Amino acid sequence: MKVLVLNCGSSSIKYQFIDTANRIALAKGMVERIGMTSAVLTHQPLNKEKIRIVGEILDHSIAIEYVIAVLLSPNHGVIKDKKEIDAVGHRVVHGGETFSGSVLITDQVMNALKENIELAPLHNPPNIKGIQATKDHLPTTPQCGIFDTAFHVKMPPRAYLYGIPYELYKKYKIRRYGFHGTSHRYVSERAAQILGKPIEQLKIITAHLGNGCSMAAVDCGRSVDTTMGFTPLEGLIMGTRSGDMDPSVILYIMAKEGLSLSEANTLLNKHSGLIGISGESSDMREIEEAVGEGNKKAKYAFDVFTYRIKKYVGAYTAALGGLDALIFTGGIGENSIMVRNDVCANMEFLGIKINDELNKNVKGECVISTDDSKVTVMRIPTNEELVIALDTEQIVSEQLSIKHAASVN
Ligand code: ADP
Repeated sequence: MKVLVLNCGSSSIKYQFIDTANRIALAKGMVERIGMTSAVLTHQPLNKEKIRIVGEILDHSIAIEYVIAVLLSPNHGVIKDKKEIDAVGHRVVHGGETFSGSVLITDQVMNALKENIELAPLHNPPNIKGIQATKDHLPTTPQCGIFDTAFHVKMPPRAYLYGIPYELYKKYKIRRYGFHGTSHRYVSERAAQILGKPIEQLKIITAHLGNGCSMAAVDCGRSVDTTMGFTPLEGLIMGTRSGDMDPSVILYIMAKEGLSLSEANTLLNKHSGLIGISGESSDMREIEEAVGEGNKKAKYAFDVFTYRIKKYVGAYTAALGGLDALIFTGGIGENSIMVRNDVCANMEFLGIKINDELNKNVKGECVISTDDSKVTVMRIPTNEELVIALDTEQIVSEQLSIKHAASVN
């Protein structure tokens, strides 16, 4: 099946056109600066030259029209007819408590998505716009929603409830939701396949470390706890987000600095984390460079970052009652030798021992722990788009067989 995978943000749309039979992206690209006269579409067809188009793309509907047009383009395209797009899979950020798995998008699902807007006011509206825009241009093509939160929705109440009055959970749905679910699910499943064991027998900690960072405790293939919470702000230190802290700190800063709610929100989400502590950069490569040059604040930022991950490895090993595998993924998890090294240092007491040479020479999916390490430590590149394409294929195939059965009967 050929699936168009879309990740619609407020001013950008990332896309991949995936052939699920070979599990390869026939084309990938991005539309940026939607809403502006100088919007940019970058398109990379497989084994062909990358192209860049600048034009007026004022809304998501026009952006999707451009994406379809470039997929159809005689020179840079990969299909000859729109009908070759068998289905569309959308990354949807927040499924609230409603969705614990991927779904075919129907009017009922659209209503539920709209009901969840309050939980993700920045992310769900562009996701919804993307779905509506796709419907404008591909009215008969099935569309599916794959949620960042779904993998975590079934964690136990002890992990998702906050220590606030229970009525507030009931009234406003304030609980831990967790995000990056597609990635945590993918890398934990890959880990089981690489280890050659049924996932039902494994206790795994996954660390997705990119611009946004989160970890998950995966027991028998199910997420039982995760570091991000009601919003992606909780948990690990990230490029620009604070992660965990005493909630009164923000009340104190608001009072002292006279910040509004929106300014406080910006402070915690955009000016904290690595950039906030270092004052240098939110990019781990630049932090590492600055550490190498002896920059003290960059070193603080780096240490706070890795120490927080280490603490959660300990906490989640306790939560899981043991540990079989620790997985690093995301831009930092896949590429930073220093981060993996620091997180795993002095962890022999937990059964974690990495091999320096393996850690330095990673390639593709690989094990970086020593032969005698009780816990297998792995680097597994994430592939959220592939999960979206495969989930979409499965849902659409099921629908087709139901329709077929109905027509036969
Ligand atoms: P996003 O979360 O936006 O998808 P990525 O997963 O691509 O982002 O991760 C981006 C992060 O990965 C940045 O902090 C970047 O510095 C870091 N990164 C990429 N390559 C390396 C590297 N070789 N060493 C250290 N960090 C790296």
